[in-house]
Amino acid sequence: HAKALGKGQYQFYQECMTQAAREKLSLRNRLGQAIEQGELQLYYQPQIDLRTGQVVGMEALLRWPQRDGRWISPAQFIPLAEEQGLIVPLGEWVLHEACTQLAQWRAQHPLTWQMSVNVSAQQWLDSGFLQVIQQVLRDTALPPAQLVLEVTESVLLKQSAETLKLARALTALGVQVALDDYGTGFSNLSQLQHLDISQLKLDRSFVTPLPGGHKVLAMVRSAITLGHGLNVFTVGEGIETQAQLEALKSLDCDIGQGFLLGRPVSGQEFGVRYLPA
Ligand code: C2E
Ligand code: MG
Ligand code: MG
Ligand code: MG
Repeated sequence: HAKALGKGQYQFYQECMTQAAREKLSLRNRLGQAIEQGELQLYYQPQIDLRTGQVVGMEALLRWPQRDGRWISPAQFIPLAEEQGLIVPLGEWVLHEACTQLAQWRAQHPLTWQMSVNVSAQQWLDSGFLQVIQQVLRDTALPPAQLVLEVTESVLLKQSAETLKLARALTALGVQVALDDYGTGFSNLSQLQHLDISQLKLDRSFVTPLPGGHKVLAMVRSAITLGHGLNVFTVGEGIETQAQLEALKSLDCDIGQGFLLGRPVSGQEFGVRYLPA
């Protein structure tokens, strides 16, 4: 590729690479300390029942605020945490924090809200994971059914006896498992017949083109039909426009999430906005 570019362009490319590499190195160096010093926060994005318009739950999303007021996306630092072996303790903190938050809200109101927490591959595969979940439920006294663990399709649908066993154990505990980013993993769908899950989260890449042409409609319709056939809730994520919302409603999608319905906000702001008066 370098040959094809002019000399100036090549240098520019190199400088950009160095800049990106430098940034990544700096993030990597600072992440461990940021976690230790409690700089990471959780934001919460509402999930809405598409038939009633009611808030039925929220997804906890990690935020790493920077000095300049911006924050770095978890899509950027979660992989770094995984590389450094920090994701297991970080994920445990996230679970504790999110469940504690919902337990606090429940202490003020009789809520049936569900708290969805993202679980990374390494966490899911960690031998202590089930115990962590049990401990969190004990510590927070949260009804297990109000905890939803979001695991990506690429992890859940990998042919693995451990995953089937874990999903079964979690279901036995009463905890829900959601298949996140559904439709992006090129996965072995036949695995779904063996897997205990309670939600199918349609990836944003299916929602964005809605209402779109007949092909995307056919794909989303079949995903929702599959979910209902499996007796699980379907969740549409990344809803940004009224047209996308209407399309999902007309396709009988159960739950919606997206900037149109509510952006991720701090726990305090979530309480102000969505707790019953
Ligand atoms: P995800 O689990 O698929 O989460 C949904 C992402 O879509 C979030 O990005 C959310 O802010 C964003 N989003 C929600 N509505 C819209 C919308 O209408 N339009 C657009 N363009 N985006 C929308 P976020 O917060 O940057 O998180 C990115 C990913 O990082 C998450 O994808 C999840 O895989 C991962 N992540 C976030 N928090 C955690 C965590 O606590 N643990 C782990 N393991 N992963 C996390
Ligand atoms: Mg998620
Ligand atoms: Mg998702
Ligand atoms: Mg996604």
